[in-house]
Amino acid sequence: MKYISTRGQAPALEFADVLLAGLASDGGLYVPEQLPTFSQEEIASWAGLSYAELAFKVIKPFVDTCIDDADLKRMIDETYAGFNHSAVAPLKELGTNEWVLELFHGPTLAFKDFALQLLGRLMDHVLAQRGERLVIMGATSGDTGSAAIEGCRHSEHLDIFILHPHNRVSEVQRRQMTTILADNVFNIALEGNFDDCQQMVKDSFADQAFLKGLKLGAVNSINWARIMAQIVYYFSAALAVGGPHRPVAFSVPTGNFGDIFAGYLAKQMGLPISQLVVATNRNDILHRVISGNDMSKGELVHTLSPSMDIMVSSNFERLLFDVYGRDGGAISELMDRFKKEPVQLDSARWEKVRELFDSACADDETTCNTIAQVYADTGYLLDPHTAIGVKAARECWRDKSVPMITLATAHPVKFPEPVVKAGLESPQLPEHLHDLFEREERVEVLDNDIAAVQAFIASHVHRD
Ligand SMILES: *Cc1c(COP(=O)(O)O)cnc(C)c1O
Repeated sequence: MKYISTRGQAPALEFADVLLAGLASDGGLYVPEQLPTFSQEEIASWAGLSYAELAFKVIKPFVDTCIDDADLKRMIDETYAGFNHSAVAPLKELGTNEWVLELFHGPTLAFKDFALQLLGRLMDHVLAQRGERLVIMGATSGDTGSAAIEGCRHSEHLDIFILHPHNRVSEVQRRQMTTILADNVFNIALEGNFDDCQQMVKDSFADQAFLKGLKLGAVNSINWARIMAQIVYYFSAALAVGGPHRPVAFSVPTGNFGDIFAGYLAKQMGLPISQLVVATNRNDILHRVISGNDMSKGELVHTLSPSMDIMVSSNFERLLFDVYGRDGGAISELMDRFKKEPVQLDSARWEKVRELFDSACADDETTCNTIAQVYADTGYLLDPHTAIGVKAARECWRDKSVPMITLATAHPVKFPEPVVKAGLESPQLPEHLHDLFEREERVEVLDNDIAAVQAFIASHVHRD
């Protein structure tokens, strides 16, 4: 299978190259040239499979011949064996036809583990085959960093450097990163904010001379392999509630549009999904585009659901590419304009987006109220991101005879503040993290100075 760029200029690549490349050389994002599709009968035949077996069926066509079946199977098995629930992605019933899909049983308690646990293994495998090394550099405001570090800590051909804003991530999130003492893992606490971290990563990708021959790789959701791994749980959830013979609806707490884009792909691949709800917090660019054709950046607001605090949803470009008939020139032009000013989609394209997605947004107060109300009604504790998903699901649910599944993207213990604000007791850390607050930490505090950061990286990378 070949992958092409949403901006139409970069060369088409195989899976293994897309895996290591991240962003395309024309500034676009890679997508499959052609999606695999599955018949209803084939999907129905997967009903008895384990999560890992199902993942192999869904992922195999995307990886194609780049990795041997036996190796791919082994990596998928290892990935999901590391989750703390036998169902990997269990469903919990909140009410009649109302479900949450718990995606927080991985090592860092957020859905990002589904993709990053596999990504680290896939990258390591391809690098070993090629006899190459790669340097992962990423910025995090919390969840991505810990999941990426957990995903790469055992990789022999990768060093990973994660920048977080010093004193501006929660203690659980910081400790999930800094207590990983593997010798290929480096945490940098930058004396700056998240934007400073991100800018530094961006500038380093643009000029990699400081690495003296080594190359940088990306683990953010522009990496295609992350989207790929996330398609699987839409299939597993649908099968669990009676699909594919019965349609299902999903509501997805959304930031960068990676997770819900995987749901859109599942639908294109043949899974009967009747509704996809984009749930945002006050950083609502996606809700504004979908409901009012207003694609403008707005101001960044810090909310109680920090993993959805974004001004621009980078994966939305992948959807626009489809909606614009896969015209890379048109996307290139649109994204260039969007860099400078607010844009509108032309009306026929916008109608298409509206046919595909519903949307709703919730502020902090609504988030806390939803946590409190759902707990009072059902005894089930939602994390703030998931609460926004449940709220949006209830607002947008068109046909109550269709199961509505909200993706529970994080464990509530990661975000105690809104839980306490909702008047509830903050939950306990799960067993495998019970001593997190006693573990040794390793972190380098550095000035907000790119030369200092690059010098630190250059002097700590491993070279063969
Ligand atoms: C990353 C994240 C999201 C947003 O996912 P996107 O793929 O960026 O839309 C939502 N909730 C949690 C807990 C996250 O960590």
